[in-house]
Amino acid sequence: MKRLIILCLLSTSLTYGNAEFWGKTGHRVVGEVAQKYLTGKAKRKIKKLLKGQTLAEVANYADAIKSDRSYDAFMPWHYVNFAPDQEYRNITPSPEGDVVMGILRCKAILEDENRSEADHIFYLKMLIHLVGDLHQPMHAGRAGDRGGNDIQIQWFGNGSNLHRLWDTNMINHYGMSYMELTQKVDKLNRKERMALQQGDVYTWVEESQDIANELYDSVEVGEKLGYSYSYKYWDTVEQQLLKGGVRLAAVLNGIFK
Ligand SMILES: [Zn+2]
Repeated sequence: MKRLIILCLLSTSLTYGNAEFWGKTGHRVVGEVAQKYLTGKAKRKIKKLLKGQTLAEVANYADAIKSDRSYDAFMPWHYVNFAPDQEYRNITPSPEGDVVMGILRCKAILEDENRSEADHIFYLKMLIHLVGDLHQPMHAGRAGDRGGNDIQIQWFGNGSNLHRLWDTNMINHYGMSYMELTQKVDKLNRKERMALQQGDVYTWVEESQDIANELYDSVEVGEKLGYSYSYKYWDTVEQQLLKGGVRLAAVLNGIFK
């Protein structure tokens, strides 16, 4: 009984607490899932670069540096906006970069042995975060509403928007720690995992875009959302976290081979 009360209190504070803080859970899950599937070699090299920190521990670094103006050039790397009927491969890439270009850039720098260790550390941390962002469908949304940021909704009576709903609201409301959530989402056998690792950053962004297109139709502006929305879309949240994790492992194993 006592445990139940604590659980209730905890989930209430998660729902109405600081969204920014708890919103980091998704990135940590992606990092923690990936950590499990690194090859021995990748694990060793990453451990050395991150000075013993885990992927989950550094997964939010790219968001943390947003408060420092000297990193402004990396802001557009967190997302990509393109029209719903377009394929990423056919768009004229933004000169400022986007999440796909960001991932490819990180990869190239990490594979370049002439770059400094400091560069390798920085771009490794960026990469871990960006693969997570790539799998949040609203990070591959439309430009006109800034990936759903301008589509206002209500989440359990509080003002929010379609982008934030998928960034943080649903994950926070579920009320699990990143470790618990990692265990919950990752039940695959090797064959299933390898199937999810197929494709590349181009197919993965188009997959996110397809989901985003569905999500645009999932809400009306100003709609009051809560339990039934979560019930309907929670599996999608879990799937995307899991895909982000196993694919991050594949990308890192490819770099550190
Ligand atoms: Zn981000």
